[in-house]
Amino acid sequence: MTLDKRLGQRFLPYGANYLDWSDMAELREAIEHRVLFRYQTETESMASRLERETCRHLGAAHSLAVHNCTEALRLALIATRPSIGDRVYIPAVTFVAVAGAVLSCGLIPVPVDTDDSLSLDPTLLPPDAERVIVAHMEGTVAPLPQGVRYVIEDCAQSLGARFPDGRAVGTAGYAGTFSFHHNKVLTSGEGGLVVTNDEQAWATMRCYHDHGSARVPGRYPTWNEDAYYGENFVTSEQVAAVQCQQFRHLDELLDGLERMYAIAMRELPDRADLEVRPRAAGDVKVSLRFRCRDRALRDAAVATLTAEGIANWTLNKYLLPEHPVLTGRRSLYADGFPWNHAPEGSLALSHDGFARTRDRLDRTLCVPLSPELPESEQVGAVKAIRRVLEAV
Ligand SMILES: *Cc1c(COP(=O)(O)O)cnc(C)c1O
Repeated sequence: MTLDKRLGQRFLPYGANYLDWSDMAELREAIEHRVLFRYQTETESMASRLERETCRHLGAAHSLAVHNCTEALRLALIATRPSIGDRVYIPAVTFVAVAGAVLSCGLIPVPVDTDDSLSLDPTLLPPDAERVIVAHMEGTVAPLPQGVRYVIEDCAQSLGARFPDGRAVGTAGYAGTFSFHHNKVLTSGEGGLVVTNDEQAWATMRCYHDHGSARVPGRYPTWNEDAYYGENFVTSEQVAAVQCQQFRHLDELLDGLERMYAIAMRELPDRADLEVRPRAAGDVKVSLRFRCRDRALRDAAVATLTAEGIANWTLNKYLLPEHPVLTGRRSLYADGFPWNHAPEGSLALSHDGFARTRDRLDRTLCVPLSPELPESEQVGAVKAIRRVLEAV
């Protein structure tokens, strides 16, 4: 197989997935145990093992496994005990799941414009902001606002990233959420996790995610006098097993990304009109992010890379103020819930109607790095990228 083929073989590559039958001890264990429900196991469940391992590795007090990051965001929002129609400030550049999680909790998403790195710009927040979701997009560590009561860190695209002080992303705010979806740093197909250092938040999320119950493992759920209604976000043992297996490879994956990033920074052409943006030390190096002179050059680079079979993507799809669900205030409810609790007119926060952000997005190009390749193949892959970009 040619190198370009190998790089392009995984549809939408993002990180590595390390899925291999020779390495599936946890999954084998879960199946041999013959119980796939986490609260029916006699020994420590896979879900509990995953929570223990992620707490240890990330330095979080509590961790809760759920089906996906969208549920994790919903749990974190509900744990703040909001009122219907409360505003939640979210990045203008992120996946629509963030807005969906907010809306499905009966809350109003308010897009906030981004800084030069395309992360939420905390200086735009009003002084009375109570709930903010910050997304660390594409492994890029975003700044956190100070003095906001509930900062939820969406780490769906940044598992393993660290702040300059060494803390893992997801552990510095009220709660942090992670995704193990196919396109993320690690994958179990679908899978999610929420971490928090707040004891009360954890207790609330644990109850809500299991029908509002105070379940004792091995027993039918029970409801305390002060119980609330909940939903069912309880994960399965076989998914948790794959997440445990994936998580074992996190450090190896981060090292592989760092190595290929370093090669790229040495080897790539020094073109002022097609500049590779340096990443911070604590970022997860999921991709090379290029800033092009203009959109035409960016689009030409996309076309050439794609024609050569080299995976790449752009970030225009993430501009939420232009997403139909937000522009059209769409809802399945007959009364438009929860938008019927929002004031008329745009709530979005930007100095220039997102003009600068739109321009940055138009000029941005990302090329994923391949952590699982041995160094010699990473060098070859970077040379292939270089050859293509020099010719654009
Ligand atoms: C993928 C993603 C989500 C949603 O994660 P799921 O596990 O697919 O629900 C949320 N936020 C961001 C930034 C994402 O990239």
